[in-house]
Amino acid sequence: MLLILEPNTDLDSEGHRQLMDYLARLPNIEARIHQVHGAEQTLTEVYLVGDTSALSIADMQALPTVEQVVRISEEYRILGRHDPRQASLEFVYNGVRFSQDELHVFAGLCAVDTPQHVELMMRALQEQGQVCTRMGAYKPRTSPYSFQGHGKACLPWVFELAGKYGIRVIAMEVTHESHIREIREALQATGNPTGVMLQIGTRNTQNFELLKAVGREPEMPVLLKRGFGITLEESLNAAEYLASEGNSRVVFGLRGMKSNMGDPHRNFVDFAQVPVVRRLTRMPVCIDPSHSVGSRDRAPDGLLDVMHVTAQGVIAGANMVLVDFHPAPEKALVDGPQALHLDELAPFLQDVSVAREAYLRRVALQQGKC
Ligand code: PEP
Ligand code: MN
Repeated sequence: MLLILEPNTDLDSEGHRQLMDYLARLPNIEARIHQVHGAEQTLTEVYLVGDTSALSIADMQALPTVEQVVRISEEYRILGRHDPRQASLEFVYNGVRFSQDELHVFAGLCAVDTPQHVELMMRALQEQGQVCTRMGAYKPRTSPYSFQGHGKACLPWVFELAGKYGIRVIAMEVTHESHIREIREALQATGNPTGVMLQIGTRNTQNFELLKAVGREPEMPVLLKRGFGITLEESLNAAEYLASEGNSRVVFGLRGMKSNMGDPHRNFVDFAQVPVVRRLTRMPVCIDPSHSVGSRDRAPDGLLDVMHVTAQGVIAGANMVLVDFHPAPEKALVDGPQALHLDELAPFLQDVSVAREAYLRRVALQQGKC
């Protein structure tokens, strides 16, 4: 059972103390508080864990500071959407707001290689008014002989360059618990010129110990990629691991499924599930057109497949786009064939805006506002 408290309930108030005292006396039930800090208000939810079947909604509704009571299923307890009235999970990180109402593009390098390439990328982003990027330092590779990423050695100069070009959030994959500490230390050592969204890649979606470690992270948000060969339900449960450990600043990423049914794309594009994830959960939803498509193939209308699938995800309500660019894709150490060129950044962003406007118009039409 979930108790949604009145907005901005003060946890030190008399009413809240009375509520928690009452809940503490319920036998075999544990009350866990979860707060969502939005721009305008702080929402407090109290999860009652245990056998709540004997509790009456009316009794709970009458308790001090309680605004709504919702019976919830076991699934996706914190991240799930148990009631249409529940607000989407919203968080602000380093000045950037994430929610099911926003849209951010994270264009950047699949893997950090040289300072020159990183700087060219970041300068191009700044010219386009972008404040987010992707930069892989720890790369999970299929072959042990392939480039594994520069690791912690590149973090100081990547963060400094990000600060120089006004980048506020970098999506960066971690494949081991120690990487979280390395990133935190490098941010501190460089004076926090930027922020990092920890990315859990598709190969690690069910690496439960990594999920628990990232779930204990008190500040940095997480981009959790869907597992490439497991059900959506299994991937959403993986996201819940993060929240159950305390970190509910989670964006859920669709990146295509491994299957030859998607040929000639690298993965079978699954962006039709953007609205499904938004319905089942309150997480912002990311799409990764680059790792879905895996090439620079172009349709007869002149648009790259990467642009077509991006538009498909955005017109369905996606909240984040993670996309590979590179100043010299032929020199990229990872995934060059799917990277877009820097002169394609402006047209790509314009195309995203067209799809976003179309999405917002579609929602307005449905709500009878057009
Ligand atoms: C990536 O985004 O760099 C990546 C490796 O993606 P995925 O985990 O989806 O394969
Ligand atoms: Mn890649």
